[in-house]
Amino acid sequence: MQAIRAADTKPEMTLRKGLFALGFRYRLQVRALPGRPDLVLPKYRVAIFANGCFWHLHGCDLFRWPATRQEFWREKLGGNQARDLRNQAALRDQGWRVAVVWECALKGRGRLAEGEVIRQLAAWILGGGQHFEIGSQASFRASFQASAVSGDLTASASPSSSSTV
Ligand code: ZN
Repeated sequence: MQAIRAADTKPEMTLRKGLFALGFRYRLQVRALPGRPDLVLPKYRVAIFANGCFWHLHGCDLFRWPATRQEFWREKLGGNQARDLRNQAALRDQGWRVAVVWECALKGRGRLAEGEVIRQLAAWILGGGQHFEIGSQASFRASFQASAVSGDLTASASPSSSSTV
């Protein structure tokens, strides 16, 4: 885990600054919660993960399978993905609402404007819903994750579908 989620990555800093500027207050890397969420907003019962697309096996254009040691990486990254889903389910069981902001939402060719990502996340925090997920535009077309957890993603937002705030 230590190696997977480096603290103070740029996407995470973008989220912190953006949410703080809107008046949200949060705690960082809460170890007591499943998966150690990057940001936790106790007031809204919200846990936020800023996930790197490689380590968390996102179906987007930032992700590529390594050319070597393929078996190792399939096991490793597949294990990471399975653990992420378990942690999110455990959080929901404890009454937490879970948001996943993928690296590709803020980085790479398909990225969205920072303000747009923050706006959608803030709207979800205030508006309710069990699950929020945002990545690059392309990741929504190519995602092979959604099918694995489709039952839990009914409230998931996409850049093209949200029009609130
Ligand atoms: Zn991605």
